[in-house]
Amino acid sequence: MCIICKKEVTEDIEELKIYNCSDIKVLPYFPNLKVLYIYHCQNIKTIPYYPKLEKLEIRNCREIKEIPHYPNLKELEIVYSYIKEIPCYPELEKLFIYNCKNITTIPNYSNLKELEIRYSPIKEIPCYPTLEKLFIYDCQNIITISNYSNLKELEIWNSPVKEIPYYPELEKLIIYYCQNITTIPYYTDLKELDNCDKTTTIHYYPNLKKLKIDKCPNITTIKYNSN
Ligand SMILES: [Zn+2]
Repeated sequence: MCIICKKEVTEDIEELKIYNCSDIKVLPYFPNLKVLYIYHCQNIKTIPYYPKLEKLEIRNCREIKEIPHYPNLKELEIVYSYIKEIPCYPELEKLFIYNCKNITTIPNYSNLKELEIRYSPIKEIPCYPTLEKLFIYDCQNIITISNYSNLKELEIWNSPVKEIPYYPELEKLIIYYCQNITTIPYYTDLKELDNCDKTTTIHYYPNLKKLKIDKCPNITTIKYNSN
């Protein structure tokens, strides 16, 4: 039993966390709800429309197949879910998708700053104009990544991506288990480079403060120019 089943929640609640309740089937309407976490609730099928909702996390709720259009949603996290489609939230800034086998595409978000995708069949990440952080873990269908003019951090694990574009603002680059990446561009603002895998040459990055090279047998040269 959760706080909703026990009727311990008042209508003006702004933040609600519901964990491990198998009794609850329908969530009540809360006009002022801003933050909602639902973890391991196997009988909830739908989530109501909450006009003020800003943050939503859904983990391991197998019956939730759809999420409403929340006009003020800024952060969305979906983990172990059968949701098929994510609406195009106009204010969304952070999106995390882990283990969602039915999500194959993600919309164009005009304000997205941070995107993290793990174990996902998504094929393509749209070209988000405001994206600053991108994390890709074990997404075997993503072959190319776009040009993001504001990208500051890029982290890629176990990916078939072949090439990393030049990102003018990039400060942090982390690459692990990417067999196809053989070159890393000359990033003038790069401060941290963590592993290069199959790269053969790395550049002399003028602003680099932290460099980690681990199991990169092909690196033989550090280039002292921008070519
Ligand atoms: Zn309950």
